[in-house]
Amino acid sequence: MPHDTTLTLETSPAKDIAALPPMFKTLERLVGNTPLIAIDLDYKGQAVTLHAKLEYFNLSGSIKDRMALEVLRCAYKKGELRPGDMIVEATSGNAGIAFCALGRALGHPVRIYMPDWMSQERISLMKSYGADVRLVSHEEGGFIGSIQMAEDLARSRNDVFLPRQFSNDDNCQAHNDTTGPEISAQLGACPDAFVAGVGTGGTVMGVKRALRALCPTVKIHPMEPAESPTLTTGHKVGKHRIQGVSDEFIPDIVKLCELDKVICVNDGDGIIMAQKLSADLGLAVGISSGANLIAALKVQQELLESGQDQATVVTVFADDNKKYLSTDLTRIEPVKDGYLSSDITLKGYSVI
Ligand code: PMP
Repeated sequence: MPHDTTLTLETSPAKDIAALPPMFKTLERLVGNTPLIAIDLDYKGQAVTLHAKLEYFNLSGSIKDRMALEVLRCAYKKGELRPGDMIVEATSGNAGIAFCALGRALGHPVRIYMPDWMSQERISLMKSYGADVRLVSHEEGGFIGSIQMAEDLARSRNDVFLPRQFSNDDNCQAHNDTTGPEISAQLGACPDAFVAGVGTGGTVMGVKRALRALCPTVKIHPMEPAESPTLTTGHKVGKHRIQGVSDEFIPDIVKLCELDKVICVNDGDGIIMAQKLSADLGLAVGISSGANLIAALKVQQELLESGQDQATVVTVFADDNKKYLSTDLTRIEPVKDGYLSSDITLKGYSVI
């Protein structure tokens, strides 16, 4: 249950956008301000409500539009990005799609380096935006090799802009300025906790920045796959199927000491949860969204076990299922011991 507090929203000071291409004003209206929904479910006979932001309502279909818009805006303001410069990013997918959509809308050529084991839908999507997509194999270094190649290109040319989303604080600032304030404004109160899968960590770190300023006791939990827990080990330890989260290193912008406990979710549990959201409620979400809902339930159960009467837990549905139609998301997933999804019956949802 939201705490009974009156909230004053504080966002960053108004930015001077005079020097920005006028197209930014249009893009600002197409990114952010996504719906917040309350999902009702039954968990082991207990009536539970969990909250999620529907991030596939953003222009290119994912939460990464928020980061891309802020990074490009700040780069223009700092003079790091000029009209016609090439935007070059190493990305597992949604960030690349966001930079393609926003970059092309602003008239920039876009080049993307990405590991070659990402889904075909993501690769085709970026090519459809006219991007120059370079696939990087395990032997060439995968994620880390992709970042190295982007850096090498920027050193060899002077018309290249690198967003550097894993180390760029503007990534966090995007969520501080938009996602966090939207959550508290839409709830009309402080949530007890926010949980989200960590790719770059921009979402958790930025939402943490905004919500802790308004709601000092709010818990902020990162989520990662149990099969490959990068945050808890510091390095890559295995394979997992939650595309977009838990890469091979802890990003610079992630400050674990400022966050609450890491929540681990089995990728199969996330897949089954995403399948149920689509089949039972018509919410056709991607795999990380299913995993985020499982994580939100785990956080909520812990808060109730610690003695709270009720707990408002918010998460994000980072993208929809269209990029995963050729993955295990559309196959029958075996149920394993310990999966929470087996004990969840989805009842319905409403927009807050
Ligand atoms: N889910 C999906 C599907 C993503 O593409 C990403 C971004 N890589 C995330 C979650 C994690 O977001 P962030 O980079 O802000 O940690």
